[in-house]
Amino acid sequence: MSEKIQTLLAGRWRDASGPAYTTEYPADGSTVATLHAATAQDVDEAVQVAEQARQQPAWAGLKRHERAGILYRIASGIRARGEELAQLQRLDNGKPINETRALVASAAGTFQFFASACETWEDTITPARGDYVTMSVHEPLGVVGAITPWNSPIASEAQKLAPALAAGCAVVFKPAEITPRMAIELARIAEAAGVPPGIISVLPGKGSVVGDALVKHPLIKRIAFTGGTNVGMGIQRLAAEKLMPTSLELGGKSPTIVCADADLDHAVAGVLYGIFSSSGESCIAGSRAFIHASVYDAFKQRLLAGVRSLRVGDPASEKTQMGPLVNMGHRASVERYVQMGRDEGGTVLFGGERPQGADFDKGSYYLPTVIEGLPNSARMCQEEIFGPVLALLRWSDEADLLAQCNDNVYGLAAGIWTRDYKTVWRLGSALQTGTVWVNTYKQFSVSTPFGGVKMSGTGREKGRLGILEYTSQKSYYWGTNEAPIAWSMA
Ligand code: NAD
Repeated sequence: MSEKIQTLLAGRWRDASGPAYTTEYPADGSTVATLHAATAQDVDEAVQVAEQARQQPAWAGLKRHERAGILYRIASGIRARGEELAQLQRLDNGKPINETRALVASAAGTFQFFASACETWEDTITPARGDYVTMSVHEPLGVVGAITPWNSPIASEAQKLAPALAAGCAVVFKPAEITPRMAIELARIAEAAGVPPGIISVLPGKGSVVGDALVKHPLIKRIAFTGGTNVGMGIQRLAAEKLMPTSLELGGKSPTIVCADADLDHAVAGVLYGIFSSSGESCIAGSRAFIHASVYDAFKQRLLAGVRSLRVGDPASEKTQMGPLVNMGHRASVERYVQMGRDEGGTVLFGGERPQGADFDKGSYYLPTVIEGLPNSARMCQEEIFGPVLALLRWSDEADLLAQCNDNVYGLAAGIWTRDYKTVWRLGSALQTGTVWVNTYKQFSVSTPFGGVKMSGTGREKGRLGILEYTSQKSYYWGTNEAPIAWSMA
């Protein structure tokens, strides 16, 4: 199964200049790919070549509808290789095949969306307040850096690449070291779709080497980052040195609120999906479920029945709902959090251990885990675990509920389950988050902006205006006065 892969670096397919390393299939530890890590010199070369390439008529001279044409072809290219890409992403991070298929479809949809946004995007003539015509036009920022994590590579990479290309930028990618494959394949598809040489480079390797050099490079004009909050803060600090804009899509500890009048079947299904799909390796995982005291026991009973029937297993199987965690190191971190929850006085209602049996021996599997009896102030309820661990909390007073939901450094997403629209509006307005799901959870649409507040990040991805994040605005005043400016004539 192991394959040697090269990357697209500064306009050529080749090995990066750093040491060779391998990536592993989380389900059994087998080697998936061997490739070379990039170096700081590779970063410099990729950025310099991108800066040259983006100024050439082959890219800078394209009209918006022509760039849109390339984006439409990338969408088609992704769809044409859809099943293959889904299988490759499964091997990279061990997500179940049904999930990786959905991620691939969403990546194609992202390119299609930004293609149409690109060709229908208008600059503005602003109301003149003197003897001139005023216009505001958008120009590409230049070469931008995209840094991505391992949990949903093709989707988070498409969310950066599509608007950046639509804006006319060049893009240097730094995918997660352990999941380089999707960015490399996106670059291959983009090349075949007509993106000129040098406009896209993919630099696999360590964040502390490649990512750091990319952020610091003087010709990098923006960083689109998805990853952990500490790394994001470091990037923001470096960005300040050159006043570089960033978008930071960071961590989360999202609350889900189940009200007394909620449809419990829907709420249970939504809470299960919200925390246990992707094995909880999701920034928007609904990891704190606040259940109204009057329905707590009924909810808990139904939830546990649902958890018991979740199918944990081989990510290649169509039936699997939860695959392995991304690697053994990450599973060890999840295990430490569950132990911490026990030490803090929590009761494990289900899970809290690895699944048993030969099928699970070689993979980094962990059972879906439900814990109750912890206060919201417990570390397990405050910190991002990024795994399949749900804390059940009981509430009865709305003001106290909101205080607890908001008593967290993160502010990425929240869920509300109720039949009363006024409750939705009251709670939704008070929740400090970037997204609120009402009677649903973890739904995503490229047409709707996404991002966090507080330590979950700054900036937004997706949405029609997402292109503007990769542009700078230039204003023109076109004088219309037949006479010279009066002041000079006085
Ligand atoms: P991470 O922050 O460790 O790594 C993310 C990327 O940053 C990787 O490519 C990594 O190599 C790179 N990196 C690491 N150190 C760097 C440095 N000093 N300079 C530049 N780049 C550096 O995150 P992870 O473990 O890969 O992913 C999990 C995290 O990502 C979680 O916190 C999760 O919540 C977050 N995440 C957020 C979103 C969102 O949209 N808000 C989506 C997915 C994941």
